[in-house]
Amino acid sequence: MPKLRLKAPANVVADYFHLFVNRRAYTLQSNRPRPKSARHYYYRPKDRITGQGLSLTPDTIRRHLEGEITIGLYGNAIRGPLGIHRSAGRRFWFDGAEENVEAQMQYLNSVPKVNREQLTRLIAGKSMPPQIVRPKKLWCPGEPEFCILDHINTPLHTVGHNNVTRCPSCAEEGHDRSGDNLSISIENPRKYICWAGCTSDMIRSALGYPRVHVHVQNKEASNVKIWPDSNGLTRREIPSGGPEGDGLRG
Ligand SMILES: [Zn+2]
Repeated sequence: MPKLRLKAPANVVADYFHLFVNRRAYTLQSNRPRPKSARHYYYRPKDRITGQGLSLTPDTIRRHLEGEITIGLYGNAIRGPLGIHRSAGRRFWFDGAEENVEAQMQYLNSVPKVNREQLTRLIAGKSMPPQIVRPKKLWCPGEPEFCILDHINTPLHTVGHNNVTRCPSCAEEGHDRSGDNLSISIENPRKYICWAGCTSDMIRSALGYPRVHVHVQNKEASNVKIWPDSNGLTRREIPSGGPEGDGLRG
């Protein structure tokens, strides 16, 4: 999207980092849409050699602001403000300032920030409006249980208590050529894990079956997203003799 490219000076990048970066982990929005869904999915970019997830640097922010890439930030891996949405092909500016990065950052720096105590006071005694809270359940009414084995068509081989195959999300990025990043519990195929760190959301998206998000309410938090199916397979559940070590291959 060359027409949307602009220059982001170092002070703007530093301000952006200060305002919006909580964690160094980030996601990247794919430049090319998935053929089946025509959607531009987000994935965790990884180091080609070590397979480790990449960490945000000021240069990542500069490239995001300048429009070369589009990143998601935690929070919830949501698109970083002022980035270009790769499907919509446009930037979304904040109201209240001119549509250029210098003016936008100046504006964002000037607005008062809410601290933890103020936020606690603000939400005290409030609850989620009932129309957006659904009762807690494992999957949505009418949605059949997702079984990953129904959607995998790469060869499976058995390692310990798991079936092992190529991770579809890694495969999208041309990784996991050895075809063994994804472990699926034989006992309970609803449990699966990618050793290169793909989330189950990324794996399901890569298979063309993205999850339906369900809002639940509980005592700890009133705005938690859970998923209609589970991938509770933890690294400890992989028996010795299965994939082990750092598991970071790709
Ligand atoms: Zn993977």
